[in-house]
Amino acid sequence: MYQGVSDYLAIMQLSGLSELPRAERVVKKKITAAAAAGIIAAEPEPAAEPAFVSDPVSVIPPPSVSVTPPVSADKRLQLLAAEVAQCRKCSELAAARCQTVFGTGNPAAELVFIGEAPGADEDKQGEPFVGRAGQLLTDIIVKGMNLRREDVYICNILRCRPPGNRNPLPEEAAACRPFLDATLDIIKPKFICCLGAVAAQNLLQSEQTIGRMRGNVLNYQDIKVVCTYHPAYLLRNPAAKKDTWNDIQLLMREMRLLD
Ligand code: SF4
Repeated sequence: MYQGVSDYLAIMQLSGLSELPRAERVVKKKITAAAAAGIIAAEPEPAAEPAFVSDPVSVIPPPSVSVTPPVSADKRLQLLAAEVAQCRKCSELAAARCQTVFGTGNPAAELVFIGEAPGADEDKQGEPFVGRAGQLLTDIIVKGMNLRREDVYICNILRCRPPGNRNPLPEEAAACRPFLDATLDIIKPKFICCLGAVAAQNLLQSEQTIGRMRGNVLNYQDIKVVCTYHPAYLLRNPAAKKDTWNDIQLLMREMRLLD
């Protein structure tokens, strides 16, 4: 038996080819014939191509990302209240106050009541609307609207008591405005009820009287606003309570608390 190149030369001699074959298929034919005649060993079958094996996929582990939980509205309000407690932008108010009066209620409230400024009781207790006027507001919320005080949020245009309960000065309202805006930005209410002319005029930057603003649904940055009299005014003028009740019913209809 012939092997390798010798086989190949022998085949060439047998086939009468003295030169390299021009066509490979001629040689293959002769090799097959020689193998069949037992002159040469049959060409081993070419090794089967290894089955295609794809490169193992390199699994890259995802980067470890530390996810910081979002700060809750409650926590953000606490941080803002701590900032307010340090505020001395209105030197006269800061010097006279017992403490700042930030706000109270549900950090995710649909409805925010905005009053004017803390009074003597609020200044002592650090909470808005806690005196007689506060009790009347509580009655409006609980008995009138069938809500709880904890369901809504209550704050003021100013966070410090003006001496003698005078009206806030324009510069004081302007100085405290960022705190009000930040509060509303955190709570994102759908409705605001302005209690009294100071609240309504400052929030809406309007010079209209409360008598002209009440009885309508106004708009502040896509928040529906209803204005009514301040509870302290209602204590002095009980006849105006029916107007406030009409305003509260208007608000309740907007909130779908009333048909
Ligand atoms: S009223 Fe507002 S701006 Fe003025 S000192 Fe108090 S917290 Fe600061």
